[in-house]
Amino acid sequence: MAKPLSILFVTSEVIPFAKTGGLADVSAALPQVIRELGHDIRIIIPKYAAVSDRKFKIHDIKRLTDMPIPLGDRVLLGSVKSSFLTSIKSKVQVYFISNQELYCRSDLYIDPKTKQAWPDNDDRFMFFSRGVLETMLRLGWKPDIIHLNDWQTGLIAALLKTEYADEPLFKNTKVVFTVHNAAFQGVFPKESFPKTGLPPKVFKTDGLEFHGDINLMKAGLMYADAITTVSPTYAKEIRSGKEYGFGLEGVFKKKARRTVGILNGMDAQLWNPEVDTMIAQTYSAEKLDRKQENKKALCERFHLPYDQTIPLIGVVSRLAEQKGFDLIEEKLDELMKLDLQLVVLGSGEKRYEDLLTRAMKKYKKKVGVHIGFDEALAHLIEAGADMFLMPSKYEPCGLNQMYSLRYGTLPIVRSTGGLADTVEDLTDRPKVGTGFVFEKYNGRQMFDAVKRAIAAFEDKNCWQSAMKRAMQKDFSWDASAEKYIDLYKKILKQK
Ligand code: ADP
Repeated sequence: MAKPLSILFVTSEVIPFAKTGGLADVSAALPQVIRELGHDIRIIIPKYAAVSDRKFKIHDIKRLTDMPIPLGDRVLLGSVKSSFLTSIKSKVQVYFISNQELYCRSDLYIDPKTKQAWPDNDDRFMFFSRGVLETMLRLGWKPDIIHLNDWQTGLIAALLKTEYADEPLFKNTKVVFTVHNAAFQGVFPKESFPKTGLPPKVFKTDGLEFHGDINLMKAGLMYADAITTVSPTYAKEIRSGKEYGFGLEGVFKKKARRTVGILNGMDAQLWNPEVDTMIAQTYSAEKLDRKQENKKALCERFHLPYDQTIPLIGVVSRLAEQKGFDLIEEKLDELMKLDLQLVVLGSGEKRYEDLLTRAMKKYKKKVGVHIGFDEALAHLIEAGADMFLMPSKYEPCGLNQMYSLRYGTLPIVRSTGGLADTVEDLTDRPKVGTGFVFEKYNGRQMFDAVKRAIAAFEDKNCWQSAMKRAMQKDFSWDASAEKYIDLYKKILKQK
């Protein structure tokens, strides 16, 4: 094998330590596969309150205790701790940057009381960004690649190309910036700029200035050596207009030649119906009937009557506008006239939590809702439902549709981002289809796709063949991880 690479993977969430969405899954799975391929990859994240030292066997790194880290006029102390992400096949070192004032609170980004972003998110992630580079300097560990993820880490790219440009340790380091969701950009008022510690010349259109504010995702995009997004279709969409680029479409267009879409994989060990310990009954494409036990358990859990012949639609999602809940809201009463059941697990915006709670009360025998975050229940829904609904307005990659395919739970999706790249329509292509796809973001088209799914469900043989095809799709990380390695190698060769 050629010389192994040293890679620092910087992220704001990673399972099992901290998770709000798909980024956490990616941040665990991708580094583990890269490690299995023989590279030295390490992860660094903030140490949130929920990350328990005892539970995760986290140790202090004595020489990295109380590092002074400037943040505007203030100097805050950051300490680094360490643990490992272990799987059967690999062990990846994880560093945690702690600071009582900034990270010791219940939620990662949002204040649960106000449901708004923490007002000091600029401080929290600027401190983290600088802390990451200071940690490397003190450790004396020289990364060939620093792989940044989303706005929380974008400042690092700008720091590396300015203040830290002459550091011998980073002399040959290249930066990859991955966009997991272009809607969240880390925009802060220009008054926050001095806290970045960047030279004033960086506050410009070609830097991180954004309509008079600062934009930390833009910092990542402008200063990275390569940009990736999490599916090929999303890479095109974000430069197509405001509805996908959220104001950064011009930057995405400008950076198109440096940008590549690499489809996320899924953790095929964690999401495997053959060995899943969180479901009622394991099953496989050869033993499909056993899936029914999960449907029974799921109905029981939601106090719904169990009937094998009634299609049960599952939803596991953040309750956010992005995910298409306004379409569900628009069509709810019409959907309820169809012979189906619906179970939803999710948390997020209050208006959708209220909508779903109301729906559950109104349609007691047809709708089950659990507001909250529940990993085990997410597994049971994937295993127990017949279909999985994801009518997203946009979807950078989406993991749930891949889990659904693996669990033989045919997805009903809008053709956008990773959904377009992973699900093929069964109505159009009965011999190869694995789900139901609709094009336009409107209630009528979603409703029509649900009706097509219900009609197909009645043809048991055709449905079972589609289930088996879906379950055999390979969305493991192996191929995608190789693409990242190729990209790392390519940019390392560039001057
Ligand atoms: P996003 O990152 O936009 O939220 P993805 O489909 O990429 O969407 O990933 C979502 C991940 O979060 C999946 O692993 C999904 O199972 C999980 N998830 C989302 N909401 C919940 C919830 N309420 N309870 C348990 N898991 C959830």
